[in-house]
Amino acid sequence: MSRIDILGVPFDNMMMDEVVDYAMNCCAGRSAAYVVTPNPEIVMSARENRELMEAIRGADFVLPDGIGVIYGARILGSPLQERIPGIDFAVRLMERLSYAKSSVFLFGAKPGVAEQAGENLKERFPGLVIAGTCDGYFTDDAPIITAINEAAPELLLVCLGSPKQELWMAQNAGKLKVGLMAGLGGSLDVFAGVVERAPERWQRLGLEWLYRLIKEPSRIGRMMKLPKFVLCAVKERVTR
Ligand code: UDP
Repeated sequence: MSRIDILGVPFDNMMMDEVVDYAMNCCAGRSAAYVVTPNPEIVMSARENRELMEAIRGADFVLPDGIGVIYGARILGSPLQERIPGIDFAVRLMERLSYAKSSVFLFGAKPGVAEQAGENLKERFPGLVIAGTCDGYFTDDAPIITAINEAAPELLLVCLGSPKQELWMAQNAGKLKVGLMAGLGGSLDVFAGVVERAPERWQRLGLEWLYRLIKEPSRIGRMMKLPKFVLCAVKERVTR
């Protein structure tokens, strides 16, 4: 499996099918492997936050979530094969887990959201077992870890936003009896129907970020990291 370094973050250069096959193997094991899905904003944060960078580098696979990462890789002269949005990866994986009658635990988002997401996912993937849910606003890890270990799911979705989710997975992997964990930001909000994802045409054009910005203008501060990311990539290419 080849990795491509983008401003210090080692991205896996894989196609979606390969990633899903690999993830299914992790789910079958009990090694609490974990997946991170950085976008340019997370890459820029990791450059300023050593703990976050270490959590990302410690992941079993690092998927290029944002279209910006794909452009960054091109600018750096080492293109990635495919963009792999975390939410699409999760859907593909849960489809396979559903055929295998395997289980998922949904962790994160505001109270009630994970439960609603669970109901919707169960309807969409009838074979999938919803092993448990827990919201993402907590003060103590211990009862959450106990609940997850009692459920012992093949897959654990950790949707706490970045950097909380990456740090949580890195810190707790050793204590968890799960196959695979995936840090997926606001995906539970989408599965619950609380947040609407960009229409497919916008996604295909690589404009999902613009759609989100129009829907949630308060994201502008976070998104200012995108031009900085492009500038850094250009600078690195030139100095190389
Ligand atoms: N969240 C959480 N606990 C926290 C902070 C955030 O569970 O302490 C959840 C929040 O409710 C939302 C998700 O984490 O569901 C973050 O979503 P965001 O849109 O910021 O993530 P993105 O998809 O942009 O990575």
